[in-house]
Amino acid sequence: MTKRIYITTPIYYVNDKPHLGHVYTTVAADFLARYHRLEGRDVFFLTGTDEHGQKAEQAAQAKGQSTKEHVDFHSAVFQDLWKKMNVSNDDFIRTTEERHTKVVQNVLQHLFDRGEIYEDVYEGWYCVPDERFWTEKDLMDGNCPECGRKVERIKEKNYFFRMGKHQPWLIEYIKKHENYISPPARRNEVLGFLKKKLDDLCISRPKSRMAWGVELPFDSDYVSYVWFDALLNYISAPGYQSDDKSFSEIWPAHIHLIGKDILTTHSVYWSTMLKDMGLPLPQKIFAHGWWTIEGRKMSKSLGNVVDPVTVAEAVGLDPFRYFLMREVPFGMDGDFSVEALVSRINVDLANNLGNLVSRTLKMIAKYRGGSIPSPHGVPENLKTGAEQAAKNYASHLETPAFHKALEEVISLCDLVNGFIMESEPWKLAKDESKSERLDDVLYGSAEALRFIGRMIAPIMPDTGAKLQVMLGMEEGVHGSPEWGGLAPGRQVKDGDALFPRIDDKKKEEIIKAIFPTGEDKEESGLIAIEDVRKIDLRTAKIVKAERIEKSKKLLKLIVDLGFEKRQIVAGIAESYSPEELVGKQVVVVANLRPAKLMGVESKGMLLAADNAGKLSLIGAINDVNGGLKVL
Ligand SMILES: [Zn+2]
Repeated sequence: MTKRIYITTPIYYVNDKPHLGHVYTTVAADFLARYHRLEGRDVFFLTGTDEHGQKAEQAAQAKGQSTKEHVDFHSAVFQDLWKKMNVSNDDFIRTTEERHTKVVQNVLQHLFDRGEIYEDVYEGWYCVPDERFWTEKDLMDGNCPECGRKVERIKEKNYFFRMGKHQPWLIEYIKKHENYISPPARRNEVLGFLKKKLDDLCISRPKSRMAWGVELPFDSDYVSYVWFDALLNYISAPGYQSDDKSFSEIWPAHIHLIGKDILTTHSVYWSTMLKDMGLPLPQKIFAHGWWTIEGRKMSKSLGNVVDPVTVAEAVGLDPFRYFLMREVPFGMDGDFSVEALVSRINVDLANNLGNLVSRTLKMIAKYRGGSIPSPHGVPENLKTGAEQAAKNYASHLETPAFHKALEEVISLCDLVNGFIMESEPWKLAKDESKSERLDDVLYGSAEALRFIGRMIAPIMPDTGAKLQVMLGMEEGVHGSPEWGGLAPGRQVKDGDALFPRIDDKKKEEIIKAIFPTGEDKEESGLIAIEDVRKIDLRTAKIVKAERIEKSKKLLKLIVDLGFEKRQIVAGIAESYSPEELVGKQVVVVANLRPAKLMGVESKGMLLAADNAGKLSLIGAINDVNGGLKVL
């Protein structure tokens, strides 16, 4: 039986608008998949969409669509994106497909029959948007530790997976298998997490609250917790319980590539689920870092969410893919900036690789009529350098350290450029007695380009193919990473530059394309009118004011907005006494996310001018109704 190299990305949540992070993980997986295929290995590369849960249900309702319509549409967005990014996945799993839901139900029933899933009453905190339960100690300032939003106290019957009992085993396993959780920082993070007592996992959600999920086979009033359902995609797609032959060829996975935000679900939930099912664990779970944009966190309000398709269109898909894998050590956080993108393309691709290809082909055209000459001897330095680069490259991709693998490519380009400079083929060409030496220099440079081509093809597939055509090779056949694979006598084809250099004018166009709303707005300190309109400012009348116990600064106010009365906690106790505030007209930010101050809920804030610590409330001069829009 031949084992296949099984590579996965997370399945992406359908509601998400695809961003740089999605493309990062998926292009990394594609790099690996294409590399292994090029080495002649059989690969199974899986990606997909996670389609259950409350968020999908709510988004569909908000649009007046059926949930099925909603997830169909968004799943197609991802499938389309992977085509545009030239991603070579072998399968695409959707968690609403029957081939998946059947497996989820089978696994649930099996664990239930064995007593590994039991019923209990859950009492504790729940974050509605995240659909997650939290214990008291998990909470951060009384809010959800994941998203910072308010949690709800709930008490309800649920089903639990006996995850806690696997804690000692899991700790041992991670300690014994050094690379199971990678990179090391993430491994330590998980071991740190496992120092706390591991609770059993609530794997059900009552349909009364949320019905868009996989129904529990043993209780039709409940659906599966979305994560329990989603993680099983890694075995449902390769054929667990439906195609034993396929499944045994594919499982266990060679690598699960994930973002660091979903480390716990994979390393703890998924590992213990597999252990309980009696299945072998994946060989590696690798969590990569996050991207900031131009030094700042990606956020809609900053207008800096980068659309990957736009970037690919602006600078070319292959250079974009190269940048993602080359720029940042895989596993660390990185920063996306047009400056870095352009400089990477110009320095590595246009000036170095592109020039090398062009000068080599031009020399072969000029001195040998475009035909690759037969070598007479071997330039040992070049041979050793090329073979060593290929070896290092392969070992870096095992980690995977994509950035280091690509550094090998650039070092090899440097080596070949140096070899040409030293050999001075333009001088050899003038001396008939040096003709054999010239053959060796030309053949050696072209053969080194074949090595470079096989190393760039997995990350820049179109460029790799183009380079093969230029070298007169058969497309898709890269040969082995041993010296001498290039057939002499073939005609080279010189064409357009592989990577046109990006000048300042083109760079400006790229910036405009990627940040159409003007990424530089913060530098100028100016914001757009749309940004101002996001703030819902309203007039309000203070109807009640009192001190908050143990607080010198805070007052608890009730303000009348006309359409409702609101409680707001304001830090104005040192500037106003409660008595003088009642009846005052103020201006309130009415759409502020609620927060708790000293344990008291606050739904809004007052506008005030700060005069060296003494605050002066801002309000309407005329007597107006509460709730009027300001602006
Ligand atoms: Zn939350």
